[in-house]
Amino acid sequence: MMNPNIRPNPGHRKKLRFRQLFLLVGILSLIAIFLNQYDFNSRGKLVVDPALAPPATDGREVTISGNKGGFTIVIDAGHGGKDPGANGSSGAEEKEYTLSLAKKVYALLQQDPKFDPYMTRNDDTFLELDERSAYSNGLEADAFLSIHGNTYTDPSIKGTETYYDSLISIPLANAIHDKLIGATGFPDRGVKQEQWRVLVGSERPSVLLEVGFMTNPQEEAQMLDNAWQDRVAQAIVDGLNDYFEGKQE
Ligand SMILES: [Zn+2]
Repeated sequence: MMNPNIRPNPGHRKKLRFRQLFLLVGILSLIAIFLNQYDFNSRGKLVVDPALAPPATDGREVTISGNKGGFTIVIDAGHGGKDPGANGSSGAEEKEYTLSLAKKVYALLQQDPKFDPYMTRNDDTFLELDERSAYSNGLEADAFLSIHGNTYTDPSIKGTETYYDSLISIPLANAIHDKLIGATGFPDRGVKQEQWRVLVGSERPSVLLEVGFMTNPQEEAQMLDNAWQDRVAQAIVDGLNDYFEGKQE
C-alpha cells in the first residue's frame, strides 16, 4: 500500500504545469523578439539590420545591406578616413568622390530585384584593404567592385582603366569596362591585370575601377559632377546586368 504522504499532490502538479507553460510562453516571446530584430536573406545568411546593430566603435561594423535577395554585390568606395587617396588637381580628395559614386551604384542596385548590394563603407571610415576583400569573401559576393580615381605626376594623362587580378574576374572586368568607357567619355586605357592588394585578397570575381584621372583637370571636373556620376553609376549597373544575364543565383 502506498504511503499517502508521498503521493504527489494533484494541486501541486497543476501548479508545476502552469509554471512550465509560463516559461514556454516567455521563451517563445524572446524568440519572436529575436526574429523581429534579425532577418535571414534568401541564402539563409543572418544579416543584422544596420539600424539595430550596436554602434560601431572603430567603423569596422559600418556596412549597409540590401538584404533582399538577388546577386550579392559588394561595392567598395576606395580609401576613407585617414586615407584620402589621390589629391585631385583642384585639391578634391579621392575618398569623397569614390564614396559619392559608390552610394549611387548602391542606390541603383537596391532598386533592382536582381541584386542584393552591400557597401564596405558608407561614410568617411578608414578600412584596411584586407578588411574590404574579407568582407566580400565573407558574404560570398557574386561580384566585388572597388571604385577609385586615378593619379599621375603628369596632369595631361587621362582615361578609364579597369583592373582584375584573378582570371575568373575577366568577364566581369570586360562587361563593366565596356559600359564605363561609353559613360565617362574618357579615353579607353583598357582592361588590365594587376595585383592590387584588394583584388589579390578577394576570392570572388573582383574588379578595380580607375574611372578617370583626378590629376587631370578636365577629368577631375567631370568626376566631381553629380550628373556625370549618375551616368557612370548607371553604366556600372548596366555592366553588371550584362555580366549576370543568363546566370542563376
Ligand atoms: Zn584609389
